[in-house]
Amino acid sequence: MKQEFTCIVCPVGCTLTVDEENHQIKVTGNQCKRGLEFGEKEYTRPMRILTTTVKIEGSLHKRLPVISKGEIPKEQLHQCLQALYELSIKAPIKRGDIVVEDICHTGVNIVASRGIEPLIND
Ligand code: SF4
Repeated sequence: MKQEFTCIVCPVGCTLTVDEENHQIKVTGNQCKRGLEFGEKEYTRPMRILTTTVKIEGSLHKRLPVISKGEIPKEQLHQCLQALYELSIKAPIKRGDIVVEDICHTGVNIVASRGIEPLIND
């Protein structure tokens, strides 16, 4: 079986062709070793870093940017995004705080990409 992917490891964006024959995976079109690894992984088990925002209460800001502390299987991204969409957290929050532990049983934590101060009541 043959599949084509665009390598997203760097801005060059090489077109990779992954060919599997007799359980042997062959990647072509890559200009470097990182593309080779990406092509193999993309073919066997595609993974992605997740970045999005979640609702935050008690702050001037309405949304908190968050990021996964590791890669998540691509097929679970939608489920994870849905879980984060339904979440609402309270300020204050510090950069790097865990917002969700082991999101959707992926073993990956979601952390705050920035700190958010609470509203100050006079
Ligand atoms: S194969 Fe190498 S050079 Fe090409 S996009 Fe991937 S990382 Fe960049």
